[in-house]
Amino acid sequence: AGSIAGEPLMVDTHCPYCALQCAMTLTRDADGEISVAGRDFPTNRGGLCRKGWTSPELLHRNDRLTRPLLRDAAGIPRPVSWDRAYQVIVDNICRTQQRYGNDAVAVFGGGGLTNEKAYLLGKFARVALRTAMVDYNGRFCMSSAAAAANRAFGVDRGLPFPVSDLDDANTIMLLGSNVADTMPPFTQHLTGAQRAGGLIVVDPRVSATARLTAGGSGVHLQPAPGTDLELLLGITHVVLTEGLINNDYLDRRANGLAGLRRSVADLWPERVQSITGVPAATIREIARRLAWAADNGGCYLLTGRGVEQHVNGTDTATAAINLALLLGLPGSPDSGYGTLTGQGNGQGGREHGQKSDQLPGYRKITDPAARRHVAAVWGIDPDRLPGPGLPAVQLLDRLGRPDGVRMLMVHGSNLVISAPDSTALERRLDDLDFLVVSDFFLSETARHADLILPVLQWAEEDGTMTTLEGRVVRRRAVSPPPGEAKSELEILHDLSRRLGAPSPFPTRPSEVFDELARASAGGVADYSGIDYPLLDSGATAHWPYVDAGTPRLFGERFGTADGRAELVPVRPTEPVDPVATGTGLTLITGRLLEHYQSGAQTRRVDTLNASAPRALVQIHPTTAAGLGIGDGDEVLVDSARGRARCWAELTTGIRPDTVFLPFHYPDRSTANRLTPAVADPTSGMPEFKTARVTVFRVAAI
Ligand code: SF4
Repeated sequence: AGSIAGEPLMVDTHCPYCALQCAMTLTRDADGEISVAGRDFPTNRGGLCRKGWTSPELLHRNDRLTRPLLRDAAGIPRPVSWDRAYQVIVDNICRTQQRYGNDAVAVFGGGGLTNEKAYLLGKFARVALRTAMVDYNGRFCMSSAAAAANRAFGVDRGLPFPVSDLDDANTIMLLGSNVADTMPPFTQHLTGAQRAGGLIVVDPRVSATARLTAGGSGVHLQPAPGTDLELLLGITHVVLTEGLINNDYLDRRANGLAGLRRSVADLWPERVQSITGVPAATIREIARRLAWAADNGGCYLLTGRGVEQHVNGTDTATAAINLALLLGLPGSPDSGYGTLTGQGNGQGGREHGQKSDQLPGYRKITDPAARRHVAAVWGIDPDRLPGPGLPAVQLLDRLGRPDGVRMLMVHGSNLVISAPDSTALERRLDDLDFLVVSDFFLSETARHADLILPVLQWAEEDGTMTTLEGRVVRRRAVSPPPGEAKSELEILHDLSRRLGAPSPFPTRPSEVFDELARASAGGVADYSGIDYPLLDSGATAHWPYVDAGTPRLFGERFGTADGRAELVPVRPTEPVDPVATGTGLTLITGRLLEHYQSGAQTRRVDTLNASAPRALVQIHPTTAAGLGIGDGDEVLVDSARGRARCWAELTTGIRPDTVFLPFHYPDRSTANRLTPAVADPTSGMPEFKTARVTVFRVAAI
């Protein structure tokens, strides 16, 4: 429990971490002690994982940033007043834009920011800075599945149905998602499928989720890393050639069947077995099980980062959607396709205009009608709005270049840990003329900053988040702001005023939300009709909010122009990272139960850190024996980009050709020192899962 001075208080709020947004009650007693209890809510039903249970520890850390810090001539960060900090920022913006143009100043946001912050950050970039260079870390998380959903359904809402719909399914196929570690309360919704023997988990590792298939509860498929697309195409081939498709549904609801049929004709199971390592008989068995489940009351396909974080991530998610459409799942009352958003506001974070190609309401920035609508809400001429900018990987590649981005403002993102090829990124951050980082702790990215702004976190301010099922929920403050830390809403207001922005920037979260709702009205992600009084009344508010909200999408029509879904043919692709000499292992990265994203928060929670204090790389014992590596040995993992230092964890739960490294750790243990900064051409998603690496025992070098 944290110890914060103040009046006793009890608030209903939601967890600071992942997209399940488990409901919790925070209680502050007369001594300022803060305790947490799980609260009944459809996603978590009172359950919390250990990250949620320990979250109050975040509120009393003595390493909290409480004053703006400006680097002096000797490079030492020194406390300065807010006035001075603002003046330095404004001077640098003006100097940079006068010299290099508006796009030389970039803004980088995050999928953990509240809806209000995500919205105001996009507005700040376009209206106050007039830069096209704004994007966010959701590119690393959700972008490929979002792109696939948009082109198939015309709408991207992670789960277009409530999580609780999964309870009654007899078959759930989880592709590249380790929910038992990343969002444990979610596994409550898998028990129906487990009882029916229908939990199908696709993961190169025997993850905690894969273990849920034991004892007749389901099947675990362990394809070679980076071959998920081929596996899905193989299953699709069987569904088509064995006549397992739902012809009536396809006639009524989807376009493109003939093209899709042609595109998978050469991907018969034996061929797919040679690529993926999954037996042909299993591929056939899975296809038949899914088809049976679709006809017998409950079949869901759910994708996660494991299959999405690839340069072919959009095509892989598309292959999953194609399969779901062939079986007639999307929009059916007891079945569906969805993607399990990871970051706390992964859904809302991509809806309100902090993406380089979007305006609020999930509107395309290139759409003249969208520009007119949003400009009218902002009280500006649509011609003042910049055009599309660059997605994250391309934007970050321009940092510090003479004709690129010279000044960067970072909010809610710890790029040095979460971006690919992070060694090169650190160099580019240091090449910038000026870097401003807003954070509540001195993150690894903030260490590179010229100016650090202390901001409020989670339980220190009000706001809203949008869960993985498109439900808008309220966060509420229970702790007073520490020191001089400010809300980012206030910071963006103050800076926009000093920059002479032609549109007001409200600071009260409810007012920002009201403006957001107006800006989103009529868009894809339409928040109109939702406001704070409605949320505070306890109403369930899935967007679009029509009458009592829309928990389920696609019941009658999809969001495309003709209301029909598109089957988009996709084909296998070559790996981007050439096989290295030496051991030629493939690195996959992912998350642990104890840590969340870059670990900037959870590495500061003592009980979590004690449980997972250092980076362990999982290696198969046979592979390790060949390399002279023992359990617990200090090892170096090398790729063409860099090197990570970690410790060997020998396990038969991983393929002998694969190693797994969690990406939460800093400094020399950062997994993203190894990953390539190449991105999916459709979505901008980097390739996080198929880096070719070699592994050495430290003493052997
Ligand atoms: Fe729930 Fe996710 Fe928080 Fe765990 S981290 S308590 S699963 S919201």
